[in-house]
Amino acid sequence: MSSASFHPRRNNRNNVLRDGERLCYCGFRINPRTSWTRKNPGRRFLSCPIVDDKRKCQLYQFLDEGLPTQYYKDLVFQLHNKLKSLKEESEIEADLYEEGINLKAELKEANEKLQVYERVFIWMLGVFLGMCFVICVLVLQSF
Ligand SMILES: [Zn+2]
Repeated sequence: MSSASFHPRRNNRNNVLRDGERLCYCGFRINPRTSWTRKNPGRRFLSCPIVDDKRKCQLYQFLDEGLPTQYYKDLVFQLHNKLKSLKEESEIEADLYEEGINLKAELKEANEKLQVYERVFIWMLGVFLGMCFVICVLVLQSF
């Protein structure tokens, strides 16, 4: 079997499909990804999508030139990490806000139940005091 029949839509040696997408040497469609390592921050690359190092093909190709100096690499790396942590913080804030709304609803429900219990307690206290009054009157009448 020739490689052309294995990858029928491949039209040149760089594995570019007719619609502009590419295939790795294993035959998987690959899309550009972005490196966020300290060595190559913000640099797009193509690589085999297979995770297992023993099975993946050797395709690994940068699409962009690297940043000119380590200063710029460190700067982009740090800015990316700062942005990532800010996104995580804002997600945590959103979760806390939602949790706060749920807790307010639970508190409102608990307050409503408490008001009902207070009314029942006051009613029962009234009945108890009334019975005490009646008992005291009966006891006093017996003397
Ligand atoms: Zn591959």
